[in-house]
Amino acid sequence: MSSDEAADEAESVHIMGAGLSGLAAAITLANAGREVHVHDIREDSGARFDGDFQGLENWTSDSDFVDELATWGIDLSDFKTTDFHTIDLIHPDDEITKAWSPKVAFRVVERGTESHTIDQSMKRQALAAGANLHYKSRVDPEDCHIVAAGPKDTSALAFCEVFETSYPNTVAFHFNDKLAPGAYAYMIVIDGVGLICSCLWRKQERNERFLNETLAWYDKHYPELERKSVKRIGGKGDFTLNRRYKVNGRYYVGEAGGLQDFMWGFGMRYAITSGVLAAQDILGECDYETEVRRRLLPTVRTSVSNRWLMNRVSNRSFKRLAKAWMKDQEKRQDGLPFIEKMFRPDAFRWLVYNLFARWVLKRVDTDDGRVIHRLPYRGALKRDEWKPSEEGVAVGERWKQQRRKKSRAAAEEE
Ligand SMILES: Cc1cc2nc3c(=O)[nH]c(=O)nc-3n(C[C@H](O)[C@H](O)[C@H](O)COP(=O)(O)OP(=O)(O)OC[C@H]3O[C@@H](n4cnc5c(N)ncnc54)[C@H](O)[C@@H]3O)c2cc1C
Repeated sequence: MSSDEAADEAESVHIMGAGLSGLAAAITLANAGREVHVHDIREDSGARFDGDFQGLENWTSDSDFVDELATWGIDLSDFKTTDFHTIDLIHPDDEITKAWSPKVAFRVVERGTESHTIDQSMKRQALAAGANLHYKSRVDPEDCHIVAAGPKDTSALAFCEVFETSYPNTVAFHFNDKLAPGAYAYMIVIDGVGLICSCLWRKQERNERFLNETLAWYDKHYPELERKSVKRIGGKGDFTLNRRYKVNGRYYVGEAGGLQDFMWGFGMRYAITSGVLAAQDILGECDYETEVRRRLLPTVRTSVSNRWLMNRVSNRSFKRLAKAWMKDQEKRQDGLPFIEKMFRPDAFRWLVYNLFARWVLKRVDTDDGRVIHRLPYRGALKRDEWKPSEEGVAVGERWKQQRRKKSRAAAEEE
């Protein structure tokens, strides 16, 4: 921090991390006329991500997230969003059905440093409100009022490939314990750009074989994709339950505070909401600890139960789950209530949480004086060892060659 900033410290608010949660807090505070300084170790907001698509879910609450954003003064029209009512639901035995809802089930946004991403839009909105953003700025959490630094440790990993395609806009959600151990794989195509990911909720040797095999699966089952690989990206998720969310006067928001979906990693809504709530507490409009426990923790705890249950199943149960989802959709003429029911607290999941799920989390005493309980990155199972298919090996080889060609071209340019 510069000496000028230090002199203003009594009135100004310092935030560690210019991601979604930190920027949401900054927009709220700056809109209320407070002096705000946001520090990020990276060179820009969104630099943690590199053009990946993510889904802003609309199932953990009755209100549409767009309406919530508007009441908080966050302008959704400033970044590119694509509404989805229908997805391809891919069963573990390769059957593909349609899950759909008359409501907007979720919106796809892009993460990264390009101008149409949610990260850059929130950065613009924070600057327009008068916040001061400091990139490549390293600060101690002890010097900040809000800690919004994202994940620290690893509970799960995602491996993805971005590609070009002329395939129409599509989201495919893929239950397959072989391609994505303990989790799911997915494909998102928006306006000529595609993303295929394999999420690993179990720690593996030779991680890339899962992505290669997943890509080979999509090449076979969606032949019109005609995928032209652009780059490979990925990231980690950190899932923790915190004993307190405000500690020594500091607010822990977003993934830094463990406010994440333990089951499938839909953390953006938690991140933005918690950032806004921390700012509202600073403005004297609410009590952060109370609001987190009332509005966010019940669904986070439900996701801990869901994760515990997911860790116990294999493809046979995933097939049953997919069939139950489709049957419920047929009955209600809407696929969203099935997902809403899964994500919202109920007596069964409360019991699972208290009897089993919470005891799996590992206690950690953090350097900044907090007690948190982290979801450990589970070990591989015997069934995670399999012989890659010829198609999967070929996908991996093609990617290696493309990467070599690119680095040779870059070296020649220099
Ligand atoms: C591959 C992948 C796919 C995902 N898909 C989805 C999805 O479809 N839907 C969904 O809702 N969620 C998804 N998530 C989760 C979602 O991205 C996170 O929950 C969300 O970004 C968390 O926001 P945040 O503000 O806590 O952290 P971030 O948005 O990551 O921001 C943290 C910021 O803190 C900065 N920082 C880190 N350390 C420091 C430090 N020491 N000092 C200063 N700054 C620091 C980082 O540079 C970063 O800018 C996905 C995550 C991954 C990895």
